Amino acid sequence: MHHFHLKNGSLQVEGLSVSSLAQKHGTPLYIYSQTTLENHFDRLDQALAPLDHVICFATKSNCNLSVLRTFAKKGSGFDVTSAGELYRVLKAGADPQKISFVGVGKTEAEIAYGLKSNVYTFIVESEPELHQINAIAKKLKKRAPIAFRVNPNVDAKTHAKITTGTYANKFGIAFEEIEPLYARASKLSNIEIRGVQMHIGSQITDVKPFVLAVKKMIPLVQTLKSKYGIQFFDIGGGMGIIYKEALASGTPQWWKKNKKVLHPALYAKELLPLLKPLGLRIVVEPGRYMVGNAGILIAETLYIKKTGKKNFVIVDTAMTELIRPTLYESYHEIVPVNKITGKEISSDVVGPVCESGDYFAKDRMLAPYKKGDLMALMSAGAYGFVMASNYNARPRPAEILVKGKKAIVARKRETIQDLLRGEV
Ligand SMILES: *Cc1c(COP(=O)(O)O)cnc(C)c1O
Repeated sequence: MHHFHLKNGSLQVEGLSVSSLAQKHGTPLYIYSQTTLENHFDRLDQALAPLDHVICFATKSNCNLSVLRTFAKKGSGFDVTSAGELYRVLKAGADPQKISFVGVGKTEAEIAYGLKSNVYTFIVESEPELHQINAIAKKLKKRAPIAFRVNPNVDAKTHAKITTGTYANKFGIAFEEIEPLYARASKLSNIEIRGVQMHIGSQITDVKPFVLAVKKMIPLVQTLKSKYGIQFFDIGGGMGIIYKEALASGTPQWWKKNKKVLHPALYAKELLPLLKPLGLRIVVEPGRYMVGNAGILIAETLYIKKTGKKNFVIVDTAMTELIRPTLYESYHEIVPVNKITGKEISSDVVGPVCESGDYFAKDRMLAPYKKGDLMALMSAGAYGFVMASNYNARPRPAEILVKGKKAIVARKRETIQDLLRGEV
C-alpha cells in the first residue's frame, strides 16, 4: 500500500498535487510519502507483534535524514553498512541498542566507531574480521557484541546482482563452518557472542525461500542458544515489493484481487510458527519493503525524438538519479503526472547522460508525451537517491517529504557550485 493516487487524472501524493511540488521545487525530484513510510513500519511491526522483535531498517536503501528520523520516531532500529550510515542514524535519533553493524569490509576506524557508539551487534562475515574486532575491542577495553552471518545456501531466485544467500557470492560464512567458528569465537577475551544472522537476498516476492532458509537454520540456532546463550536470531531483509502495477497497488481493491503477493501478514503467518518456539529475539532488516513504494522520481520531458524505428522520450532525469533500470534491468512503472490524452505509443524513455545504458524504459507502450510533460517513475524510494551520482557533473536532485498537506525539503538540490567543493 502507498499514498500516491490519481485525482481527476492528476497524480497526488497524500494531500498534495505532484505537479505543484514539481513546479515549486523543479525536476528531477524525489518525493516521499511519510504516511506510507509509517504505515509500512506499523504493518510489519503489528505482524511480528507475537514475537520479541526488532525491525532494523536497512539504512542503505534510503538514508535521507528525514526518512531515518521518521523511522527512529516509530522506535525502529537500523542496520548500517558503514561509518557514514552509522553517523546518519545516530544523527536521526536512533537508539544504539537497536543498531546492527553489517558489511564484509569494515575498516578499523569503523569498528572502533561502532564500539564507541555502543551498537547492539556487529554482524561478522569472516574469521579475520572477528580477530580484528577482538583486537580493537581489547584496545578500547570493551567487549564487542557479535553475531556471525550464516550463509544458508538457499537460492532466493531473484536477480543475480541481488542474490546473497548462496556459496557463489561473497556474503556470510558457510553453514558447515559455522559451529567450529562460534567455538573459537567463544574463547576470545573481548568478544561477546550475542546472536546469529542470515540474509538471503533482495526483492523476494515469495515466502518460500524465507521459510526454507529459516527451517534450515533452526537446528543451528537451537544449538547456539544452548551452547552460547545467544539472545537473537536475525533473519535479514529482502521482502519484495510491487513494481509492475505500482500505482494500482495503492488501493485496497488491488490487494483484494492479488491475494498471493508477499506482504507482512503473509510473511508473519508462515514464519511465526517456526520462530516463536525458539524463544529468542527476532531481528528483521527490511529496506525495500519499508521505502520502495513510498517514493517516486519526477522527470520532465525535454524532447521527443523520432528515429525511423523508435519514439524516444528524452527527459531531464537520468541514470545518475535512478540507476536501477540499467544496473538491475529493473522495471519502474511510468505514470503521467497530469492527464495526457491520445493513443499510447511504443516509446523509449531516456536521459541526457552520454551512455546507452541511460534509460528508464524500452519499447514500452506509454502516453504520447510532449515537451514539458511530467512523468513519475514509481517505486523509486529504495536504492534510488542513495545510488545517485554526479556523473556528467550533474547535481543530485532535491528530496521532498510529504505528510498530509505539508511538504518539507528533506534535502536541497545540489548546485553546480557544490560539485566543486574540495577540489583544487
Ligand atoms: C541490503 C540488505 C538488507 C535489505 O535488503 P532489502 O531487500 O532492501 O530488504 C538487509 N540486510 C542486509 C545484510 C543487506 O545487505
